[in-house]
Amino acid sequence: MRHEEIVVVGGGVIGAFTAYFAAEKGFKVTLVEAGHLGSGSSGRCAGIHTTQLVLPIDIQMSKRSQEIYRSVASESVLKTGFLSIEPYWMSRYSRELLDGAGVRYRVLSNGELADWLSWMSVRDYEVGVYTPDDIVVEVSSLFSDLKRRLDSLGVKIYEWTKITGLDAGQRIIHMEGDRLSFDYAVLAAGAWNRDLLARSGVWRAPTLVYACQVLSFNVAENICDVPVFIEESHVYMRRFGHGSLLVGNGFAVKLKSPSDCPPHPAREFIDELGQKLLERLKHPEDYRLTGGWTGVCSSTPDGRPLVGQVPGNPHIFIIDGLDGYGIMRGPALSQDLVEYMATGKASASVEAFNPARFTNFAGEPEEVIELHSWL
Ligand SMILES: Cc1cc2nc3c(=O)[nH]c(=O)nc-3n(C[C@H](O)[C@H](O)[C@H](O)COP(=O)(O)OP(=O)(O)OC[C@H]3O[C@@H](n4cnc5c(N)ncnc54)[C@H](O)[C@@H]3O)c2cc1C
Repeated sequence: MRHEEIVVVGGGVIGAFTAYFAAEKGFKVTLVEAGHLGSGSSGRCAGIHTTQLVLPIDIQMSKRSQEIYRSVASESVLKTGFLSIEPYWMSRYSRELLDGAGVRYRVLSNGELADWLSWMSVRDYEVGVYTPDDIVVEVSSLFSDLKRRLDSLGVKIYEWTKITGLDAGQRIIHMEGDRLSFDYAVLAAGAWNRDLLARSGVWRAPTLVYACQVLSFNVAENICDVPVFIEESHVYMRRFGHGSLLVGNGFAVKLKSPSDCPPHPAREFIDELGQKLLERLKHPEDYRLTGGWTGVCSSTPDGRPLVGQVPGNPHIFIIDGLDGYGIMRGPALSQDLVEYMATGKASASVEAFNPARFTNFAGEPEEVIELHSWL
């Protein structure tokens, strides 16, 4: 049985960045992933990364995460900016938040917005809030970049290896074909954390697991590179390679377990999104649905993540409950958790997202609470 200072369970954006920051600090780190790095939700996301969020702490996390992607995985970053289409009265709050966080932005008048988005109908009460420094993360190349980084820092990576259980008292992780002992374990298995913790009798994580989905279209007309979010309908769109568009919204399907995630987007989702697109596109005949995919996300009863020690288990840590915007906040949260493990100093995020706030929570969240937009 090998002994490690830190074992990270799960190789999505959280696991990979946690392993990266821990190894950078000089810890001996092993990362164990059931599939290949990025095979969970992280590799199935739309890659949109904006600072136009609602909670000031999320804006800070997103801003810092962008800096981290730029310095650790610059080849995977596309500097696109981000455009939110919102009623003019709402843009006042957006401006206050962005001013408070020191984020650069420009407000586009109704006329400017309509000129820019010539392929879309803009309501006469809408304006645009454009944040030019926002990015898109190309997850297809992100994980090969991160793997190179982890290899160079001496992180031992097991792929296609599932953690089957966790003995918290003995500090042993059971994996297919082997066992590892650890000083600290970090649970970064996303939507799978809950079942792993329950199966190991460690903690009843207060998370809700749900399927998140995205559609892809072939597009015959010229659309802009900037990802667009329509506040009114919650629809986001992002150009995806040449002549393709990814489209999604907050449509969530609650699941008993991640293994129940349907492989394809649900009929109701396709119909709902199709209707919302029809209301906005000037030439819907130029758009042809080519497919789409699904992935599993997790949410907590207050819509905020879990970052820190698993209650009652000083050697086990968790980051979970990132909802549908974990790519935006994951790297900064991972960095804060590693700092806490190394020094005992809790950052604002570790204070705010301490799992201990749910020590006495017995049930399961009723619904998905996504806090990234106003409506
Ligand atoms: C369709 C879709 C679109 C999205 N779009 C965006 C977006 O545009 N922007 C954004 O910020 N976020 C987006 N998200 C959300 C984002 O993908 C997640 O919040 C984020 O990826 C969560 O990262 P994670 O590392 O916690 O989880 P994951 O990426 O799911 O990683 C967990 C890993 O743990 C592994 N694992 C599970 N069980 C075990 C085990 N027993 N042993 C070992 N390994 C195990 C899994 O294989 C998986 O690779 C989207 C999600 C989906 C599904």
